[in-house]
Amino acid sequence: MRTEAFIDGRFVPAADGRAFATISPRDGSEIAQVARGGATDVNRAVQAARRAFDGGDWALADPAQRGRVLRRLAELMTDHLDDLAALESRDTGHPIADARGVDVPTAARCLAWYGEAIDKVYGEIAPTAADALALIGREPLGVVGAVVPWNYPLIITAWKLGPALAAGNSVVLKPAEQSPLSALALAELAAEAGIPDGVLNVVPGYGEEAGQAIGRHDGVDKVAFTGSVPVGRLFQVYAGESNGKSVSLELGGKSPQVVLADAADLQAVAEAIGWGIFYNAGQTCHAGSRVVVDRAIADELVERLTGVAAGFVPADPVAPDTILGALISAEHLDGVMGRVERAAAGGATVIAGGTRAEPVTGGSYMQPTLIAADDPAAPIVTDEVFGPVLVIQTADDVDQAVTLANDTRYGLAAAVWTSDVRTAGRVARRLRAGTVWVNTFDASSMATPFGGMKDSGHGRDRSLHALDAYTQLKTTWISLA
Ligand code: NAP
Ligand code: MG
Repeated sequence: MRTEAFIDGRFVPAADGRAFATISPRDGSEIAQVARGGATDVNRAVQAARRAFDGGDWALADPAQRGRVLRRLAELMTDHLDDLAALESRDTGHPIADARGVDVPTAARCLAWYGEAIDKVYGEIAPTAADALALIGREPLGVVGAVVPWNYPLIITAWKLGPALAAGNSVVLKPAEQSPLSALALAELAAEAGIPDGVLNVVPGYGEEAGQAIGRHDGVDKVAFTGSVPVGRLFQVYAGESNGKSVSLELGGKSPQVVLADAADLQAVAEAIGWGIFYNAGQTCHAGSRVVVDRAIADELVERLTGVAAGFVPADPVAPDTILGALISAEHLDGVMGRVERAAAGGATVIAGGTRAEPVTGGSYMQPTLIAADDPAAPIVTDEVFGPVLVIQTADDVDQAVTLANDTRYGLAAAVWTSDVRTAGRVARRLRAGTVWVNTFDASSMATPFGGMKDSGHGRDRSLHALDAYTQLKTTWISLA
């Protein structure tokens, strides 16, 4: 297990020798002491990244060569599937079946996808008079800082590394303090795959220390951030107070599932809604954490949802058939429980769950929870909970359902369930979210962009569009006169 920072192709302790514990939420035990990177370590990493970028071995390489290395890295991840999945599951509490079946393969697929794509991206020739040849090309930005959260460490890291590295940038990555281990394992595989020294650096540590140092460093050209709204805004402040670096933000959500009276097969709808909120214990930025259901079918849907929720039994993440594992930490579980308790005290009705669970002693687990809330201004309706907690609101008709669905400061994702294609199209057009699903939830592909509107941010991960965030346009004007 790698626990030191990865800087300039080598694993090294923090400059001041400090370390922090990474804890397994499965049972609260310490997994390892990990290097606690600070400003000095970030500075070393940025300098290594700059040297590597300026040296050109990666940035100026044939894109096909960068593509081969990224595909090789994806193969190595697949070769190490069991180890990586076990590490991710232990560090985050993800069920091992999800870590093996989703986290590792999705991250590997993302790196391979950008490796396959990058030598197929062309520049342009501008329409000018015949006495000039004006070329419009894309160039890498230079040094990219990537700061990521703990909920899907490998997948979100790959969403940043794939397009950033494929485009020829160097990267300084800070994983979340709760889940640093898989990024360090990935760095070791990246070196083995042939990523040159200094092109990928990983500095684990705390947000206020290593994260802020990346945000404020004059040698960082861009920060790609995924995490909470307040911290995302801090990165905009850091940028404004340093070198004005560009910042892309992928932030939180409170995504509505709009279920209209003519929705087909309410059992299938209830099952999709259950997976949409209880997968990864609700710690998903685009979790379908609100249901807005037509009053005519509300009782039936709630009854079916109650049955579906009962199937998500909190269990040991290492057990192969577990579908609801641990929440990331005891502190986070306390926060989620506090929100549920305040909602109940404020008049919301807890229909199911609302309590802790303890399948493994010392771990942080919670029962899947359904809450009916009439007040659209109640915090349980407006705020991201980031736990296995589904809030149910009722509407009298389609218009009110759309109004309630859009009555949020977030805009990451939404879904509408209806059997009328015209209603589906009209509602999808009115829902203000970066992704709208119709009669499904959480369907996605590497080919589709993912990101938010409103407070959910403005960045887009995945697809060729993500390359826009890691490249800049250059015009080269050649006189033919
Ligand atoms: P967070 O607290 O914002 O942390 C995200 C990252 O920022 C971590 O690496 C964290 O470091 C760092 N950080 C914290 N405070 C900082 C500061 N003052 N200066 C610089 N960096 C700082 O978010 P989280 O609790 O880890 O993750 C949950 C949030 O992420 C939710 O809101 C969720 O919706 C959002 N999210 C969004 C997406 C998306 O694609 N839109 C995907 C996943 C998650 P530490 O190591 O110290 O925590
Ligand atoms: Mg951990």
